[in-house]
Amino acid sequence: MDEVKTRIAERENALLGDEILARIDELGKISETPEHLTRVFLSKEHRAAADLILGWMRDAGMRAHLDAIGNVCGRYEGERPGLPCLMLGSHYDTVRDAGKWDGPLGLITAIVCVADLNKRGKRLPFAIEVTGFADEEGVRFASTLLGSRAVAGTFDDSVLGTSDRAGVSMRDALMTFGLDPGHIGAAARTRRELHAYLELHIEQGPVLEENNLPVGVVTAIAGATRLAANLTGMAGHAGTVPMALRRDALAGAAESIVAIEEFCRADQGGLVGTVGTINAMPGATNVIPGQVSFTIDIRAAADAHRKLAVTELVRQIEAIAKRRKLALQVDVTHENRTVPCALWLKAQVADAIAGEGFRVFELPSGAGHDGMAMIDIVDVAMVFVRCRGGVSHHPDEHVDRADADAGARVLLRLIENFTPRDAVG
Ligand SMILES: [Zn+2]
Repeated sequence: MDEVKTRIAERENALLGDEILARIDELGKISETPEHLTRVFLSKEHRAAADLILGWMRDAGMRAHLDAIGNVCGRYEGERPGLPCLMLGSHYDTVRDAGKWDGPLGLITAIVCVADLNKRGKRLPFAIEVTGFADEEGVRFASTLLGSRAVAGTFDDSVLGTSDRAGVSMRDALMTFGLDPGHIGAAARTRRELHAYLELHIEQGPVLEENNLPVGVVTAIAGATRLAANLTGMAGHAGTVPMALRRDALAGAAESIVAIEEFCRADQGGLVGTVGTINAMPGATNVIPGQVSFTIDIRAAADAHRKLAVTELVRQIEAIAKRRKLALQVDVTHENRTVPCALWLKAQVADAIAGEGFRVFELPSGAGHDGMAMIDIVDVAMVFVRCRGGVSHHPDEHVDRADADAGARVLLRLIENFTPRDAVG
């Protein structure tokens, strides 16, 4: 009998995976251009996607509405109406020429899990809310996490005046979408309404694949420091200035970049450092570069670790500049703190993973997520699902059906066994 039950359960789980894949494909078709998936904040396609997701939520037994920033919000009541909720979610905007999975996997898996509870008539001692955040990527207005900041009550109204590349202000774009920019404050939720925020997301890196695991527990969303470095030497003729007399800013930048790489590679604590852009002036084949600017992006799973690394790297670059007689200017252009996943929630994620028969494996998130904003009002945790080759923000982004299944099983088990913090013994 138990065997039969197990087999039926396996079949139903397989159906969850099929359901997820079908919806990923359906949502992935809603794009600015058919060949390259692009669905930016408050665009026509964004609106069509919101309507599709609202329909899915209602079919899953949720009440659903759009909030004032364009988040798609669904609510499945618990054993009695009005209980605080476990909030699940992810984002439904994309980068340009995106993959289908970054964001939608977490959102769709959450909806499919609620639909499964609804089908079984199962109510829990808490409500479940599913939020499709409107803007996580920040592609259109160069300001990220707009959806989750509105929910957390930390939305900065001054961004309403910013414009996209076509000159359309966020305020106007909201009105075109059918929203009232004066009401964004109404999207904010209170601490009392929420037990936790839990997000399932593709890993966007190769670590789970390397460990041959479909899912993992996220330890923290890594904080990041971004720096702009500027080296000034002396431009000169490529043929006439002897090597010993040169003050080549590009050679100094090259040495600095290698130093950054070596420093991060030698680190045992998962520090990562990237120089992603460089610009050499005047930029001619036969001229020694007199001025070079480059960016540095440093991330680690602990703030103290990252800050120490930044201090040491700046010291090394200063030494390189001094030896090469280059003037150096370094500015911090962006900094965000590490968001640790709550221990009590992480333990429940681990139990759900173990309960599905997978090895519990912990890893940090190097990429940013909506949890970075949500932590201002509630404890957060994340489940990562393996993606092929770690490829993301690219059309080749891919998740195997079996892994989508595994993610859904873990999330469903997690929901059904979820214990609010005040009830954790
Ligand atoms: Zn994402």
